[in-house]
Amino acid sequence: MAFQMGEETRTFPITWDVSANKYKIESRGLRILTEGMKDKKIRGIRCHECDTVYIPGPFYCRKCHIEIDEVVEVKDTGTVMSFAVDMADIRGNPLPEKRISAMIKLDDCDAWFIGTVENMDWKDAKVGMRVKSIWVDEPQGKFSDIDHFEPI
Ligand SMILES: [Zn+2]
Repeated sequence: MAFQMGEETRTFPITWDVSANKYKIESRGLRILTEGMKDKKIRGIRCHECDTVYIPGPFYCRKCHIEIDEVVEVKDTGTVMSFAVDMADIRGNPLPEKRISAMIKLDDCDAWFIGTVENMDWKDAKVGMRVKSIWVDEPQGKFSDIDHFEPI
């Protein structure tokens, strides 16, 4: 049965801005990550007890509660863990084309990246599909150095 608006239902035009947030991040792991990104490398920290690889790498393993400092390089390929097809920007303005925003688990790593997946039809997007990073030509050591992801 299709949803139908009842007599008491009203429609109000509103916007819901997802505003800027502040949160603390350990600077060592962020520095290791962003310095590597200048060379199109993704570096995290591995726990020597449980092999969990964090990006950006923290000072301690959140599972084992021990200090960790082994810097490891992970691949810039990964697997789409979830995705959404965006039809509008954050302010509700229609996008010229639908955009795929995805949570991507990079290979050799336990962290997920957020990115857009391009050069594919949004109707073909699937959880579990393999993607690769497409880097900007001149990386600056920023998260935006990975311009987007594409299917492998
Ligand atoms: Zn651990």
